[in-house]
Amino acid sequence: MFPPGSDDASLAACPSAGLIASFPIAITFASEITNRPLVCTAAAGSADLTQRQLFVYAALLAMEKLRFTRPLPWTNESLWAWFAGLRPRLSIRTSGGASCGPCSPGNAQLNLALPSDRPINWHNIINFLGGLAHEARHIEVGNHVCGVRDRRVADMHAFGVHNSVYTWVADYVADGIVTQADREAARIWACQQRNSAFCDDRCSPTSSLWLGAAKNSSDRLESTAMAPPVGGLRPAGT
Ligand SMILES: [Zn+2]
Repeated sequence: MFPPGSDDASLAACPSAGLIASFPIAITFASEITNRPLVCTAAAGSADLTQRQLFVYAALLAMEKLRFTRPLPWTNESLWAWFAGLRPRLSIRTSGGASCGPCSPGNAQLNLALPSDRPINWHNIINFLGGLAHEARHIEVGNHVCGVRDRRVADMHAFGVHNSVYTWVADYVADGIVTQADREAARIWACQQRNSAFCDDRCSPTSSLWLGAAKNSSDRLESTAMAPPVGGLRPAGT
């Protein structure tokens, strides 16, 4: 049994107890998340996990599976090797923006909000991984350089990395991992974000799909980390 919306059943499989016990990334969850009904249990050979806990583990395990046909533009490593190499701790909350704090190398905590359960599928995981990469990049390059925005994608500051995760999924993910619809969604996110999170960069749309949602800009800056770009207002973090 998998949560609704899974397009790849293996994504949402309950991880083994051993995997959780030796997981290379330390993760803490707000009590509002851990108090929810369990979808995986220690009694069944996994760990006691609620839906959002499973989502986060599934996303990190999916990150490890992601392969691209060309190198990422800010690291020669795989997305997972780069991310895990920064040794971040994750703090998963139910509200607030995404942030990195403290954010010094070797002692960084990435704070991320999951306000509600979300289906465990590539679409939602890719969206989440973009935000995760964004916050992790703050460890290496510091704060945004144009107010709450960055200047250009190519600068590879936090939003540039965030944006590139979506572009690389759209154009360069290895065959057989995500669907065409997942690629198209990532392409639209990248275009919308290029129009809102950068002071000196704009997307040249090749599709009309993104037009209706690209209008209000400030709502999807840092919050793009945690929610599909078409959504309600959220406070921007740092
Ligand atoms: Zn940021």
